[in-house]
Amino acid sequence: MEYKEIAKKNLKIYNSLTGKKEFFNPIHKNNIGIYVCGPTVYNHLHLGNCRTFIFFDIVFRYFKHLGYKVRYVRNITDVGHLENNGQHNEEDKIYNRSKIEGLEPMEIVQKYTISFHNLLNILNLLPPSIEPTATGHIVEQVDMVKSLIQKKSAYEMNGSVYFDLKKYNKNYSYGVLSHNNLNQLINKNFNFSSEKHYFQDFSIWKKVGSNHIMSWNSPWGKGVPGWHTECTVMSTKYLGKNFDIHGGGIDLKFPHHECEIAQFRSFYETDSILANYWMHTNMLTLNGKKMSKSTGNFLDLQNILMIKKDNYFSNIIKFFILQSHYRNILNFSEKGLLDSEKGFKKIICSIKILNNFCEKESLKKQTNNNTNTKSFTLFNVSDWINSCYKAINDDFNIPLLISLLFEVTNIIINDPKKIEDSWIFLLKKYMNYFFFDILGFINNNEVNISIEKSKKFEILVKGLIKLRKEAREKKNWIISDIIRKELHNIGIFLHDKKINKSKLD
Ligand code: AMP
Ligand code: ZN
Repeated sequence: MEYKEIAKKNLKIYNSLTGKKEFFNPIHKNNIGIYVCGPTVYNHLHLGNCRTFIFFDIVFRYFKHLGYKVRYVRNITDVGHLENNGQHNEEDKIYNRSKIEGLEPMEIVQKYTISFHNLLNILNLLPPSIEPTATGHIVEQVDMVKSLIQKKSAYEMNGSVYFDLKKYNKNYSYGVLSHNNLNQLINKNFNFSSEKHYFQDFSIWKKVGSNHIMSWNSPWGKGVPGWHTECTVMSTKYLGKNFDIHGGGIDLKFPHHECEIAQFRSFYETDSILANYWMHTNMLTLNGKKMSKSTGNFLDLQNILMIKKDNYFSNIIKFFILQSHYRNILNFSEKGLLDSEKGFKKIICSIKILNNFCEKESLKKQTNNNTNTKSFTLFNVSDWINSCYKAINDDFNIPLLISLLFEVTNIIINDPKKIEDSWIFLLKKYMNYFFFDILGFINNNEVNISIEKSKKFEILVKGLIKLRKEAREKKNWIISDIIRKELHNIGIFLHDKKINKSKLD
């Protein structure tokens, strides 16, 4: 069985819903649905936001690599939701920003959506399959609010509509994801509004004043939909009533995701929990505190990356972020960034050596290495590939994968004799898979053979090996020798007795 086929059967994901690592079983055999909460576009992305998007890009890439057809939906929150600012005042970040910059709210949305896309592009993140906006789904959100009122799961109060949590809690148990229970929440300082039946009830439609340009007419008057409503509507619209993975930063687990689940269950009158697996990335911190725009504790990626427009530097940033497991807190440090640069360069250098290999005769010659002639154990490439997949399959243990890439890098640079020539082709293929296809590092011109080229190259080589096999069977030694010689010239060495087809799978 091919490595990928084995890997496909053994992926384990930590499910925030159950608090356990679980084998991943997709709803549909070959199709995967993923929904990830996207940014509120009122400012440039900070490095913390990027940690979340970089991680889910790897999830997206890995499923694609395993051969699944993936529908990855990541929304854009372009409606300025009224949020509690901690002093019982509610503020709209997009509206506030428009006042600061002297722009229309929609100009703010446009400006920072473009900035978001540019930044993710520089980081080499794949665009999602669908990127729905809240403003593009107002009708559906109004319909959901109407239906929740009809079902008596929500109530109108002075032009705003609130979700009735006490009612919900009677039929379903509140806190299925966060394990918060309504009584325990009572003393916490959440949105307080006297017009609500219960202080924890959340708005699914919010009345706004006439000065609010970004607002819509509704049966309850002019207003804006609630933030949680947006994600429930858009995830189900594009992925159905039950999909595979719902993701976002851990800060969204409660109340955002808990509220999404509550609305969803009431709206569809179901016990289902929207997604089968809930994945949450932990926070990137700066000086030990959550990186966040609103507190001013953030690293402005815009200045660092957009001015440089430098793919090399974006690789370093990504490398730094990926050295910590996504469920651990990661604190930003300059030293960490410098170490990442060294590590990244080392891996790229070894891939360069590998990728150039086909033009030269031997890996040993390229590394100018004087390894001693004492006996040594050969490096088992096949075991190494399995270990790499095992690392990813263990709830996306990317730091472990990177340490395995370092293991090979050290051998290529310091001890190339340990790698049998006949394994090089396979090693090259999987180094490229792991580093570029799955981790999404940018294959700058520095790396000579692009992944696409190497794939075509592989097909070609397989074809030639097949031709040669047929020639040998027919005892056509002339053709067989020509093919053998040509393959040898490009660094592919065939050992007739030892030939092992799995090495080329
Ligand atoms: P926001 O625009 O604040 O809604 O954030 C967009 C995404 O970034 C959400 O999934 C957040 O959970 C995530 N996020 C925000 N701050 C951080 C941080 N400091 N570290 C990691 N992820 C974050
Ligand atoms: Zn969301």
